[in-house]
Amino acid sequence: MSGESAASTPRQASRPSRSSYDAIVIGGGHNGLVCAAYLARAGRSVLLLERRHLLGGSAVSEEIYPGFIYSSCSYIVSLLRPQIVRELDLARHGLEIIPLESTFTPYPDGRSLARWSDPARTREEIRRFSARDADVYPEFGLAMGRLAHFAKNVVDVPAPDPASLDPRELLKLRRLGRTFLDFDGDLRWLNLKLMTMSATDFLSLWFENEQLMAPMSASGIIGTLLGVRSPGTAYVLLHHYMGEIDGAYRAWGFSRGGMGRISEAIGRAAEAHAAEIVTRAGVQRVLLRSGKARGVVLESGEELQARVVISALDPRRTFLQLVGEEHLDAEFVTAIRRFKLRGSSGKVNLALDRLPDFKARPGDGPHIRGDISIAPDFDYLERAYDQAKYGSFSERPFMNIVIPSLVDPSVAPPGKHVMSIFVQWAPYHLAEGAHTWPQRREAFADAVVSTLAEYCPGLPDAILHRQVLTPWDLEQEYGLSEGNIFHGELSMEQLLFLRPAAGWARYRTPIRNLWMCGSGTHPGGGVMGGPGELAAKTLLKAGEI
Ligand SMILES: Cc1cc2nc3c(=O)[nH]c(=O)nc-3n(C[C@H](O)[C@H](O)[C@H](O)COP(=O)(O)OP(=O)(O)OC[C@H]3O[C@@H](n4cnc5c(N)ncnc54)[C@H](O)[C@@H]3O)c2cc1C
Repeated sequence: MSGESAASTPRQASRPSRSSYDAIVIGGGHNGLVCAAYLARAGRSVLLLERRHLLGGSAVSEEIYPGFIYSSCSYIVSLLRPQIVRELDLARHGLEIIPLESTFTPYPDGRSLARWSDPARTREEIRRFSARDADVYPEFGLAMGRLAHFAKNVVDVPAPDPASLDPRELLKLRRLGRTFLDFDGDLRWLNLKLMTMSATDFLSLWFENEQLMAPMSASGIIGTLLGVRSPGTAYVLLHHYMGEIDGAYRAWGFSRGGMGRISEAIGRAAEAHAAEIVTRAGVQRVLLRSGKARGVVLESGEELQARVVISALDPRRTFLQLVGEEHLDAEFVTAIRRFKLRGSSGKVNLALDRLPDFKARPGDGPHIRGDISIAPDFDYLERAYDQAKYGSFSERPFMNIVIPSLVDPSVAPPGKHVMSIFVQWAPYHLAEGAHTWPQRREAFADAVVSTLAEYCPGLPDAILHRQVLTPWDLEQEYGLSEGNIFHGELSMEQLLFLRPAAGWARYRTPIRNLWMCGSGTHPGGGVMGGPGELAAKTLLKAGEI
């Protein structure tokens, strides 16, 4: 569990300087910070309140053990919107992204596959598995790039509202339709297939080799309780192809100093525009008068007033805890209760005495400087998913691993390393009940370490410390309801104008003066900043502050 010492400097303000603001943002995750920064930049008085002792929510750097800095939750940056980096001048405020060079998959038969940022090198590697797949791999990348380019038209604007008769809305829909029609025929149909197919079926439209497709398909199940063969998972693949660094698609990277540096940079940008940020300031409830939000009540009992309140918390927390269902209409409460959180994850963060050696490709090579997947074939992934379906964590889990200390020595003492192991399919609702997670925590981490030891036999002996985060811990410590990393599954029925509920996808809520800006709103989860940016811009445009 997380410690108190933080690698990212927490904001020092312990109290708000005044009792009334134009806007109060609840939650200091990166989206809340982005929203606060944009509002402050527009000249509004803004207070941001964070429950924990440090900023960042799931984009955080924590020094749990002296000298070892973990990106405790998120670990790779890919989706962060480039306009936010530019408009908030995040580089000046300390943001630095180190590009990720490779994706490595070791197999139990002793073979391995590395996909590099250099396409020619990747083709060479794939050729060892299938000459045909090596040839079509660039075509696949091109098609996904074009689909991602289309998706950008959707991600960077508030979700279109197909039920609206407002001429401006109709114009937006028409524009979007035209972009869609601009695709040549094949790509148009591909887009539709992407929305409906499973990750495995979609990839099979190009490829034949399962060892290549298995780690690729795993991108489709992140944050879901779906298997790689479940329809609907192909879309999530695209979500992972939308990454952009300096305008280059499918560019992923490490944040120097850990993911918390991103949040810190945004926090500094907000402060540069005179936003106030207060940590250790949990909000107990939204202050309502005559059915309108008027401010917040802190856990300390203190009341603060604001013209608008913006929640960066997930929809369930926002409405069922901070507002209370008695203040909402029954239909809306039902929609929020039905908003699926279920695709929870776990994380094991290791402090290592030395580098792990992968049997399939020994030594400290460039292949371990990027991300590493334990996803050898479809059946392996489906079996791992099956266990989660029936209320257990996977005994042999799907894992996505990074060793950021290899490219960023600032996160570990000299000669030592940090290893981040992300595990999809750790169901919040264990068969014995979610509350039994604390008793299963170490068994979960043991399954992770022993599975990984099949590929890196020396790993267990190199472990100095381990931080284990189950979905229960993600909920208790990081405020993610049911441990869902995206504040709600990224499935088609919960995206765009349906996120988080039909009719309420434009950051407004049924409570007047209460707005939303977290990952549970369009365009969704990931360290993207999109919801925070779009919420702030929509609110400013509405002229309500
Ligand atoms: C284990 C894990 C791995 C992930 N890996 C990646 C990855 O590699 N790449 C990627 O792009 N995304 C990843 N994600 C997803 C991504 O981190 C999240 O979707 C995103 O950071 C959520 O940001 P947010 O600002 O919307 O919300 P959050 O980060 O959840 O922020 C909400 C904030 O509100 C605070 N809060 C809660 N209750 C209160 C209250 N009552 N009063 C005041 N404050 C409160 C919380 O403490 C938190 O700081 C991962 C997430 C997890 C958990």
